[in-house]
Amino acid sequence: MDIRIHEPEADEAERAAVDAVLGAPVSAWAGGARNIETEGHSTILGGHAARAGRDLLLPVLHSVQDRFGWLPAGALNYICRRLTLPPAEVFGVATFYHLFSLTPRAAAVIHVCDDIACRINGAEHLCSQMDKTFGPQNGSAKQAGIAWKGSPCLGQCERAPAVLVTQAGEAPRLFSHAPVESIAQLVSKMDRAASHAEGLESLRQSVPQAAQPGLRLIGRIGRVDPGRLDAYRADGGYAALKRAVEMGPEGVIREVLASNLVGRGGAAFPTARKWEAVAKAPARPHYVVCNADESEPGTFKDRLLMEGDPFAVIEGITIAAYATGSERGYFYVRGEYPLAARRIASAIEAAQEAGLLGQNILGSGFDFDIELRRGAGAYICGEETALFNSIEGRRGEPRNKPPFPVDVGLFGKPTVVNNVETLANVPLIISEGGAAYAGVGTKGSSGPKLFCVCGHIRRPGLYEVLFGRTLGDLIEMAGGVPGGKGIRAILLGGAAGIFVGPEKLDVPLTFEGTRAIGATIGSGVVMVFDETVDMADILTRIAAFFRDESCGQCVPCRVGTVRQEELLARLRSGKTFGSRSGELALLKEIGQAMRDASICGLGQTASNSVESALANLNGILSGSNGA
Ligand code: SF4
Repeated sequence: MDIRIHEPEADEAERAAVDAVLGAPVSAWAGGARNIETEGHSTILGGHAARAGRDLLLPVLHSVQDRFGWLPAGALNYICRRLTLPPAEVFGVATFYHLFSLTPRAAAVIHVCDDIACRINGAEHLCSQMDKTFGPQNGSAKQAGIAWKGSPCLGQCERAPAVLVTQAGEAPRLFSHAPVESIAQLVSKMDRAASHAEGLESLRQSVPQAAQPGLRLIGRIGRVDPGRLDAYRADGGYAALKRAVEMGPEGVIREVLASNLVGRGGAAFPTARKWEAVAKAPARPHYVVCNADESEPGTFKDRLLMEGDPFAVIEGITIAAYATGSERGYFYVRGEYPLAARRIASAIEAAQEAGLLGQNILGSGFDFDIELRRGAGAYICGEETALFNSIEGRRGEPRNKPPFPVDVGLFGKPTVVNNVETLANVPLIISEGGAAYAGVGTKGSSGPKLFCVCGHIRRPGLYEVLFGRTLGDLIEMAGGVPGGKGIRAILLGGAAGIFVGPEKLDVPLTFEGTRAIGATIGSGVVMVFDETVDMADILTRIAAFFRDESCGQCVPCRVGTVRQEELLARLRSGKTFGSRSGELALLKEIGQAMRDASICGLGQTASNSVESALANLNGILSGSNGA
């Protein structure tokens, strides 16, 4: 396919940003000088080979965005030539992600989280201060070369309000900052040229149980230097991989089966069943994908595991690959997690240097390596098939299932996708044995579990408990509601989860316990709202979140999320179309249509929290639920 690309041409700096990822062009097909006589159309460096690099589209867009702070048309045109992709495809991908801009903007952008946990912890005040200091959001305000914009949840909920700073240039910087105590303090941090890697003390603040004995998943966080492989090994790290190699792939799967481990990303699917299916799949190669695109509002557990104990996750992926006969792994980290991405990148490098990734790992004849990919701001890419599309250089739109990833996954091959917390459990299971692991917790929910406790709570942070503790226990561990206030509501499982009232404090936090009250553990969110909260505002923000994050591929979700938001606004203002009870019935009907007819979990769960709040909490919209 010969592609006709119009003006403008890329300038030297734009070409350099693209070539930094793709390498210098080696043929006319890949954007070099065309010499049809010497090259011909059928050369092995032709369009087919160039198009085979499509999975580099996301990394190359990042490179241009990091260099210029936006995606100039010349650079996009050059990318089209280099990858022999039609401009519509490249523009389609570039416009899919929040963190990319197709219009010029200031080199430094402060992304201010205005999602629910930050919202109830000062984000609105912070936004108004930003407005006064830097001008309206999304503007091209150039005061000190800084602009700002609102952002969906940045996954820093335990230290709200939070921001993510992107500073473009030859030495681009990305860093999170939270809590934001003043704009002056933030700007001074932006002015400092030094790297902003954060140390053990910061991790300890986010993990209130740090240094307590008996922790099995987060015991190293804040205690062991996450940048040092030798420190991880001295603390028992990589003993599990050694043991796995002694057991053989089938033995590893037997232990994981015996442990009853289920996925910790929200779907709670039995891990061993996925592994077995991929191990038996005849098609090759097999892939392992670590889903670290943690974007559910209120969730930050995977970030802290990656920042605080990255080698445990890498060891877990390596064991998963060994068990399933996978040749290659992809680690897909949320674009808003710069520190986690840096820690994982350096852990991969250290493991490669030590022979724990690469060829003939631990002398077992097993070859496996991991590639890190950065997301670019799209909640939907946490859905496994959307994540495949994103890695493959396509829009992050979910695929229809079946076929399931274990048969037809990444690049059309059998693929295991596991969440970060799930993989962090694997070394533990191999070390202590599946049966012992299954012996803790409850019959239906085995092992330790991480919960993200945030909102109106005295000691927000990441907590590890054995399955079976109650909601009230967890809130008490986190110090309860500050100021002696009462609890108005608790959101379980994130924006796609369920609101419950304080009468549910004795519910056990297990899969079966939450299911029994029509709730979910989801991604482990426990967000507490005190009696002063404006619940109507919270519901409106959740509805806006789903409207923004719907990929738009299917009608029930694309239209339903918009209608849901409009209906809430009408109910909130009292300007209803017809009777209030008619509007509430319509809201339920929209939720049902989204549940029944959406392709993926986003549409199927987009009305959960809104409907549960209306059902479980009294008088949240203009003083009455008005059924
Ligand atoms: Fe996209 Fe929503 Fe359909 Fe999922 S349900 S595929 S997010 S439009």
